[in-house]
Amino acid sequence: MPSKSDPILIIGGGLGGLTTALALAQRGRASRVFEGAPEFGAIGYGIQFGPNVFHVLDRIGVTGAVMAKADCPPAVLMRDALTGDELARIPTGASFRARFGHPYLIVHRIDLHNALLDACRRVPAIELVPDAMVTGFEQGADGIAVGTADGRSFTGPALVAADGIRSLVRAQLIDDGEPRPVGYVAHRTIVPMSALKADVHRHEVVLWGGPGFHIVHYPLRHGTLFNIVAVFRTATHGERGDVESYRAELQHTYRDAHPAMHELLAMMDLDRRWQVGDRDPVRHWSKGRVVLLGDAAHPPLQSLAQGACMAIEDGLCLAELIHATHGDYAAAFRRFEAARILRTSRVQLESRALWDFYHAEGIARDVRNEAVAAWDEDHMARCLAWLYDGFRIPVGPAGG
Ligand SMILES: Cc1cc2nc3c(=O)[nH]c(=O)nc-3n(C[C@H](O)[C@H](O)[C@H](O)COP(=O)(O)OP(=O)(O)OC[C@H]3O[C@@H](n4cnc5c(N)ncnc54)[C@H](O)[C@@H]3O)c2cc1C
Repeated sequence: MPSKSDPILIIGGGLGGLTTALALAQRGRASRVFEGAPEFGAIGYGIQFGPNVFHVLDRIGVTGAVMAKADCPPAVLMRDALTGDELARIPTGASFRARFGHPYLIVHRIDLHNALLDACRRVPAIELVPDAMVTGFEQGADGIAVGTADGRSFTGPALVAADGIRSLVRAQLIDDGEPRPVGYVAHRTIVPMSALKADVHRHEVVLWGGPGFHIVHYPLRHGTLFNIVAVFRTATHGERGDVESYRAELQHTYRDAHPAMHELLAMMDLDRRWQVGDRDPVRHWSKGRVVLLGDAAHPPLQSLAQGACMAIEDGLCLAELIHATHGDYAAAFRRFEAARILRTSRVQLESRALWDFYHAEGIARDVRNEAVAAWDEDHMARCLAWLYDGFRIPVGPAGG
């Protein structure tokens, strides 16, 4: 049976799994991270982070590496997708940094992932196991055994499942079926900034909200790349089509959109489509020596741009609690749920509310636009404070 010093098993080499491994290593705990893909790596699109992510990046020692590749936009804007009017502006420059202590961040996922991976590779206590698709686990009185698709098996004192929104471990632990589709799909594209001809903001994060559709765009890699995400409602959200059928859907859905959006859509790579979905919050996501983390536990819609942030916060919180409970994993995991449930559930629920807000139609859109016109910087900072001020790590460095 595994002893306390044996590596903790982590399924999933995404942002949540790697953060957990690094945070555990800082507390002297070894881990073994299984990734189902042939190599550890990220899908190659942009990602945004609120200032709350820095509370974790600082603690696991990767802020410098991330900031070398990332950018801090001067503002986050919302525009009306039909008229192009600017509805809301959150300045994310000096006043934002002064208020939240950290900047807003935009970064290529690959760059962030590599910063975490490089840090993991420098730590002997972290074993990265690529090409290891976990197919099941068994929990005994003293430990956990997991099996992989190619017939290998591993044991450890505890299992952290950071295996994403379609988590295999969640299916075994909670068994609440597939994620909840919201009837929308997403297409993502990165183009060279030099190819961008549309008259759009090039430095800011911009969300164009329209009836049943939106577009988000922002620059990456110090202004050399431009990231575009197009999201819209379609009856075919659960089906696989081809580029031509996707193109026809886009043209129909965005027919009334502002001309600049059409120029952005013309640049979209339509090879790949993501079905958008989330899950309802649940009170418990652990059992004995097994715990879910990140999207496996509480996947939100992407409207607050906080899913990865929550996975990263989870990683540090969990590692601190494992450290504090001296190997009583069941106790650590219960405390982890208690520490995280309100914050992560609020992200899930507010993301749903924001989803409707972005996509408002008819009178609801008029009401939204009128209400937002009265919001000033101070109001928006107060609305976001619960999120951007970060979370209280239940046990600090001196508490364990
Ligand atoms: C269009 C879009 C835009 C988004 N934008 C943002 C944003 O701007 N900011 C933000 O904070 N969040 C954003 N998110 C959400 C964010 O992508 C997720 O919340 C985040 O990736 C969750 O991280 P994770 O580590 O929990 O899971 P994942 O990133 O899903 O990682 C899971 C890992 O586990 C591996 N895996 C799965 N099953 C197994 C198995 N059985 N065995 C071994 N390995 C396995 C997978 O290959 C993967 O590497 C966005 C999401 C979408 C769809």
